[in-house]
Amino acid sequence: MKTKVCTKCHKRRLVSRFREHYRTPDHLNSWCKNCESVYQKSPARKKASNELKKRIRHKTNYREAAIRGSNKHRAKYPEKSKARIKVQYAIRNGKLERPNKCSKCGQVNPRYQDGRLGIHAHHHNGYKKALDVKWLCYICHRKEHLQREVK
Ligand SMILES: [Zn+2]
Ligand SMILES: [Zn+2]
Ligand SMILES: [Zn+2]
Repeated sequence: MKTKVCTKCHKRRLVSRFREHYRTPDHLNSWCKNCESVYQKSPARKKASNELKKRIRHKTNYREAAIRGSNKHRAKYPEKSKARIKVQYAIRNGKLERPNKCSKCGQVNPRYQDGRLGIHAHHHNGYKKALDVKWLCYICHRKEHLQREVK
């Protein structure tokens, strides 16, 4: 009969006392079934699995919220999203060029605090004219929209 030493309790046991495990070299768990069942019932193990569950739940909630959020935005501003996609497309195939300067305040390469380029295509003649854009830094862009909404 083949035997194996359990790495947990250090007792030599029959291989039938070990569960099969496809990732180990001998295809057997390094812990015997006894030690495994003790661990399964231990508070440490329960805590670990609860934490994991919590983390997974949190992650999916977050992702769902993000999807819901962007769908809502798209539904609320269909013209705006369409126009933005057209601009991105035109930049990609060279119809439109994204300058690195704000056409209003003249700032070159404006960047967000996290380093992303803060140049936006602003649809000053409405979103129907998707490629008729003014390039603004994110600060001027925000101002432009605030002014328009106040009027
Ligand atoms: Zn053991
Ligand atoms: Zn600007
Ligand atoms: Zn705009």
